[in-house]
Amino acid sequence: MTGIAERVLQSSVRAQARSVDSVFKNLVEEVGELSRALNRPWRCDEPAIGEIADVINCVIDLAFLLELQDCINPREDDMPAIVETVQRRLEHYVDKKCGKWDRCENADPEAL
Ligand SMILES: [Mg+2]
Repeated sequence: MTGIAERVLQSSVRAQARSVDSVFKNLVEEVGELSRALNRPWRCDEPAIGEIADVINCVIDLAFLLELQDCINPREDDMPAIVETVQRRLEHYVDKKCGKWDRCENADPEAL
């Protein structure tokens, strides 16, 4: 997790000004592109895996922006600590959700 999240967050810190709202709308657009890549791949320039990367980029950037929102007047010097907090919190929740998945807590009985 750290590798992908760390790479995306490096870009989040450097990216131009954007809002939670604009990134969320971009995420929805990317999910739509992923849907098209799965349903009509012949009409797409990019394979599904590329669209999955776009979705991952958007959701991690969204996590960064939400953390930034909670900071009072964040400065450039605060960015490494903010990035570390986002990574730690993402890892915590991903691990927690994967634990449920590992225990089949959300399994669809029809699919088994
Ligand atoms: Mg895309």
